[in-house]
Amino acid sequence: QADVALYQAKDAGRDTIRFFNPEMQKAIESRIALETALRQALLRGELQLFYQPQIDQHGKRIGAEALLRWLHPNRGLIPPLDFIPLAEETGLIVPIGHWVVDTACAQLKEWETCATMRSLQLAVNVSARQFHQPDFVAQVRESLERSKANPARLKLELTESVVLENADSVIERMHQLRALGVSFSMDDFGTGYSSLSYLKRLPLDQLKIDKSFVRDITTDPNDAAIVRAILAMSRSLGIQVIAEGVETEEQQLFLLDNGCFAFQGYLFGKPSPIVDWRSQATQGPSRAED
Ligand code: C2E
Ligand code: MG
Ligand code: MG
Ligand code: MG
Repeated sequence: QADVALYQAKDAGRDTIRFFNPEMQKAIESRIALETALRQALLRGELQLFYQPQIDQHGKRIGAEALLRWLHPNRGLIPPLDFIPLAEETGLIVPIGHWVVDTACAQLKEWETCATMRSLQLAVNVSARQFHQPDFVAQVRESLERSKANPARLKLELTESVVLENADSVIERMHQLRALGVSFSMDDFGTGYSSLSYLKRLPLDQLKIDKSFVRDITTDPNDAAIVRAILAMSRSLGIQVIAEGVETEEQQLFLLDNGCFAFQGYLFGKPSPIVDWRSQATQGPSRAED
């Protein structure tokens, strides 16, 4: 529709592009403004990683997920879902994603200097567009080499959309990355379009049960059944499972009872800009976003 309007405006022989629908024009203008600001955000250092703890069945911290935040000078903290779709459309996700991997590796290296942080894994979200870049493997390798971080501590979170394109080339690329020492988690598992058959072909270390299934796990029999099935299947495939979006002890208990031994969610800590878990052996309050 936008293209049609653009064409008509051009055909009308005007030198400035105008859109006939003022609402449409406004939307496009604000999108362009956001894109310009996002482009500058990276250069101005307005992007930041927050960290959310992941814990095991004993309440011990086993790792963290790095979650991107945009600290906009006027608009404050912008959550990723408000700018990552645009970043993906415009291709800005490539330099942004590169920055995320680089920053995560530097963080891992810093953790290595501390006895209680040293064994933590750091999970990083990788968008499909980023993963499919020809030099993605080389970029991860460079980030690891530059930081001298232990590759075994880096976990890449992929979504099912990554596999939609060309499963064979995705698998090959995953093996190249595994050869570097990194591991893989399938994020938002169960929400995508993929079939179960690829599960045994993909070199995955972990499945992450999407929070939409966890939310009503104790009240909705369908969600409970889906989660049980995911856990049973993963067990027989030898893939570890982590549940995201765990907010209550009831949810955690249900998951534990059904053989899920890793958790992430507000119950254990919100994403936080500061990772200083040194003083605490297990989960506890941290200075997090509300
Ligand atoms: P995700 O990877 O599935 O991350 C989990 C999201 O659930 C995060 O939202 C997290 O803050 C939120 N969450 C954690 N615990 C709970 C809970 O107990 N209850 C509820 N309701 N939510 C919880 P966030 O940080 O807003 O990130 C949203 C999405 O943005 C992420 O979903 C991921 O898809 C994307 N994203 C974040 N950082 C990056 C990044 O560096 N690169 C890329 N490509 N995508 C990213
Ligand atoms: Mg994730
Ligand atoms: Mg997720
Ligand atoms: Mg999600």
